[in-house]
Amino acid sequence: MLGAIEAGGTKFVLAVGHSPTEIADRHVIPTRQPDETLAEALEWFRRHDRVDALGIGSFGPVDLDPSSATWGHIGNTPKQGWAGCDIAGYFAGSLGVPIGFDTDVNAAALAEAKSGAGRGVSSLAYITVGTGIGGGLVIGGWPVHGAAHPEMGHIFVQRPHAEMGFAGVCKHHGACLEGVASGPAILARWGATLSDLSPTHEAHGIVAGYLAQLCHNLFAITAVEAVVLGGGVMKTPGLIGLVRQEALRLDNGYLAAGARHQIVTPELGDNAGITGALMLADQAIPLAPAQM
Ligand code: ZN
Repeated sequence: MLGAIEAGGTKFVLAVGHSPTEIADRHVIPTRQPDETLAEALEWFRRHDRVDALGIGSFGPVDLDPSSATWGHIGNTPKQGWAGCDIAGYFAGSLGVPIGFDTDVNAAALAEAKSGAGRGVSSLAYITVGTGIGGGLVIGGWPVHGAAHPEMGHIFVQRPHAEMGFAGVCKHHGACLEGVASGPAILARWGATLSDLSPTHEAHGIVAGYLAQLCHNLFAITAVEAVVLGGGVMKTPGLIGLVRQEALRLDNGYLAAGARHQIVTPELGDNAGITGALMLADQAIPLAPAQM
């Protein structure tokens, strides 16, 4: 039995399943202070058959370095009470099982790569465009980590001249991608969500242009086969089509010629993160000697 947690800033999704793609039970609890939230999650797992491993896809920043003393801890998050929380250690100690730990977006990328929009590809990026912009990257079937985890929302993008008066909303970088194209950025710049603005409003093209730059840069830097664009802002009717169109225009026949790059919507919808967390649990189970 596998257990999984998708730890988000507003809710925790919990699941158990006999395999990553068969969710046997699923439950959602609100994210409160760490003590109560983690205790409520533990209580839920204890009501089920014992799990053999637990996968956690968490909001970030998180420490993913297995050699670090703070592996599995949440980093310097603005979310009250959560900075420094040893989320992996809590469940390793209380359940006594191996823990697979990664970012929520790397978990979602893993799920979309293996059983969602990217079935059949070995490299994929998953981007969520919502309250913030986050991205996960899977290359060769494994989520990518380095000095930390990818922070694709914080890249810098070229902006139309007329937009330069808008300072952006990222508290670290001002007008990085998240600062100009996330939900709060759109609200600050135009006073409404993209879905509420008329389809002919210039905001659609401008936001699509920013996201197309991210897609182009991902194709150019990582050669991923697919970029999956999810999150609340991407539910705006017609936006994905505009992003594809802009990406082709920016590329100007260079990468697109003969390549297999695709910009797609998520197939697993709201289950991408939790399915990926079940896959992290599966990957955390040590191989028996005969399988090594
Ligand atoms: Zn930023």
